[in-house]
Amino acid sequence: MVCIYCKNSTKISNSRHLARKNGTWRRRNCQICNVTFSTIETPDYSTIWSLARNNSKRLEPFNRTKLYISIYESLKHRPRALEEADELTNTILIRLSNIVIDGLVFVDDLRNCVFNTLSNFDNTSLVYYKAYFDKD
Ligand SMILES: [Zn+2]
Repeated sequence: MVCIYCKNSTKISNSRHLARKNGTWRRRNCQICNVTFSTIETPDYSTIWSLARNNSKRLEPFNRTKLYISIYESLKHRPRALEEADELTNTILIRLSNIVIDGLVFVDDLRNCVFNTLSNFDNTSLVYYKAYFDKD
């Protein structure tokens, strides 16, 4: 990765596995302007998972952003909705990764995973999710 300021190459000075994100945190240094910044590498689920809907034979790339937005919208009544939605989305992705077979995410499995995760977290958010996003 290049430096975010001068665009020269960077060196990794530290890195750590992030279990809750299934990702890798890296500390990077630019040898030219001496700036230090962090990056987080996570899977691009759109390239490894496909969403299988009940009413369609067509598969669509799994979209983490769509999942995140639906969780965020369901948590908007909470003061830390942005951060909590990110954490819950990561939790759902890790739970899904335990049941996905051959890269196929069945919409009923996704729905159950979201329901279980939200009901354990905040029942009001589950009500909002069911009202606005439980369609298919
Ligand atoms: Zn630089």
